[in-house]
Amino acid sequence: MTETFERRLTGQPVSPGIAMGVLRVEARGCQAPVTRSISAAAVEGEWRRFEAALTRTEEEIHALKERVERLSGEKEAAIFDAHLLFLRDRTILAKLQREMPLRLQNIEAVYYAVVQNFMEVMRRVDDAYLRSRVADIGDVLQRVLKNMAPAEKPEAQEAPSGEPCVLAAFDLAPSDTADLDTDSVLGFVTEMGSAVSHTAILARSLGLPAVVGVPHLVIDSRVGQFAILDGFNGELILNPTKETLEHYRALQAEKKKAYETLVGMNNLPAETRDGHRIRLAANVEFVHEFGAIQRSGAEGVGLFRTEFFLLDGSTLPDEEEQYAHYRALVESCSPHEVIFRTLDSGGDKLPFEESEEQEANPFLGWRGIRVSLSRPAIFKEQLRAILRASAHGKVGVMFPMVSGLTEVKDALLLLDECRAELRKRGQAYDPKMRVGIMIEVPSAAMMADVLARYVDFFSIGTNDLTQYTIAVDRVNYRVSGMFRPTHPGVIRLMRHTIEAGIPTAICGEMGADITLIPLLVGLGAKELSCGTHLLPLVRFAIRHLNYAECRAMAEQALQAEDSRTIRALSKAIALRSYPNLFD
Ligand code: PEP
Ligand code: MG
Repeated sequence: MTETFERRLTGQPVSPGIAMGVLRVEARGCQAPVTRSISAAAVEGEWRRFEAALTRTEEEIHALKERVERLSGEKEAAIFDAHLLFLRDRTILAKLQREMPLRLQNIEAVYYAVVQNFMEVMRRVDDAYLRSRVADIGDVLQRVLKNMAPAEKPEAQEAPSGEPCVLAAFDLAPSDTADLDTDSVLGFVTEMGSAVSHTAILARSLGLPAVVGVPHLVIDSRVGQFAILDGFNGELILNPTKETLEHYRALQAEKKKAYETLVGMNNLPAETRDGHRIRLAANVEFVHEFGAIQRSGAEGVGLFRTEFFLLDGSTLPDEEEQYAHYRALVESCSPHEVIFRTLDSGGDKLPFEESEEQEANPFLGWRGIRVSLSRPAIFKEQLRAILRASAHGKVGVMFPMVSGLTEVKDALLLLDECRAELRKRGQAYDPKMRVGIMIEVPSAAMMADVLARYVDFFSIGTNDLTQYTIAVDRVNYRVSGMFRPTHPGVIRLMRHTIEAGIPTAICGEMGADITLIPLLVGLGAKELSCGTHLLPLVRFAIRHLNYAECRAMAEQALQAEDSRTIRALSKAIALRSYPNLFD
C-alpha cells in the first residue's frame, strides 16, 4: 500500500538548511538504474521484459555453474544453486508484483528498490552465514539489471534523476558529494557518516542541507516519496502533512531572511565588543566558490583544500594548469591572502594512486605530507605552481598532517629547490611567501615550540587533531558520540600550540561551531577559517563577544576535567552573547 501518513526519521544534522522534494534513494554497492514513470497500461510490457531478463540470467548462471564444476568441482559450483534460487525467490517476486502498480515505474527501478530493501534486512540479521550471502544477492541483482533489454517504446516521462530531489543514500564518499549536481539535488541524508567527515564538510561548502546517521534510512524510504529534510534539527520527514509543509515553508522563508540580514553585515570587521580583532578567512574546496568568498566578506582564504581540484580528473593537472588555477584564486582574493594547503589525499578522501592493497588504517597511513614527500617530483610541481601564483598576490603555503620536524625540514628543502628552479627559469615568485604547517597530529602540537622556529605560521586542524588525540575515527558513526573537540586533551594541545608564539589560525570545523567561538577566541586564536556559508554567523558571534570574558573562561576551561564542562562554559557565554543565533 502507498504510505500516506507522515513519518519522521532522525539523524545528526551536519549542514544547516531545509530541502523539500521527492526522494531519490541510492543503496550501496550497485548502481541504481534510471527511474522512469510509466502508465498503468505499460505494466504488463514491463513484466515481459523482466521475465526475459530472468530467463537470460538463468542461462548465464547455469553456464557459469557448469564451467566452475569443470574447473574446480561440484562443491565450489554449489553457490550458483543459491543464485538460481534467489533469482526466482517467491517473496521478492510477490513484493515486486505488489509494488509495480503502486509505484508505476520501470520494472528495473522497482526491482532494484525491492532487492536493495531485502539486502538491507539481510545485513541486519543475527546469523553470520545469512549476512555473508548479501554479496551473492547483489551479484544476481547486477546480472538481472544488465540483462534487461530497453523498453520497446519508452514512454516520454520525466526521470527523477534530473528533477529536484532529496537524495537518501546509504553512504556518500567525499568524491560522490563533490560530483553532486546541486541544481537537482537539494539536500542529502545518509545512513552512515559524521559531522567532520569530508562528505559533511563538502555539504556545508556546497550549501546543501544534510543529515547523516539515520538508522534504517534505505529500508524506510521509497523512491518518489515526498520528503522534507531538516538540516537544522536532523530530521527527514516522509509524506509530510499539509500543516508540516506549511510550517517548513514558513521556517525556510524566516531562516532565509535571518541569514540575509547576517550576510548584509559582511563588511563589518570581526571584532569583539572590547576591540579585539580576529581575522576571518574562508575554507575552500571548489573553484566555483570564488564568488561565495567575496559575498561572505572573508578576509582571504585560510585553507584551500587543493586535493579536490588535483584529484578531480583521471590525471593530475600539471604545473601550468595548477598555476593558472591558483593564480585565478589569488587574483580574485587580492589584496587578501590565500593559503594553499598542499595535497592531502588519503584518509576518507580519494587515494593518490589506485592500489590493489587496501590500507588497514587509512587515517594512519599514506596521507598528507607523507604522500607528497614520497612523490617529490609531483610535490615540486605543486610547490612551483603555488610559488608562481605568489607573484600575483598574497600567498601562503602549508603542509598537512605533519607529525614532526623531519617532515618539515624535508618539505622546506624541496621548497628551496623549487625557488632555485624558478630563478633559473626566470619565473617570478614572492620571496616572502609565508610557509606554515597544519597542526593536526598530537606529536606536532607537543613539538609546537620547536616547529615554530622553522615556519611562519600554524593552522590548527581540529578535525584531525581531535581524531588523533582521542583516537576516535572521524568518519565512523559508531564512535561519533565520542568525537569531542572540547576534550581537555585537545584544548590543552591547542593552547600549547598557540603559546608557541607564531601566528596561529584554527581551520577545523570547530571554528564554525557558534557554541565554541567564545572558547577559541579565549584560547588566543588570532584567525578563524571556516566554510563561506557559516562565516556570516561566526562574524556575528565574534562581534557580540567580550574578549576579556572569553579569556577568563578559557583559563577556567583549561582547568576543567571533562569535555562537557568545557562545552558548557563556552555555551553559557555564547547563549548570553548572541541568543538569536540559537533560535
Ligand atoms: C582538519 O583536519 O581539521 C582540517 C582542517 O583538515 P581536513 O578536514 O581537510 O582533514
Ligand atoms: Mg586534516
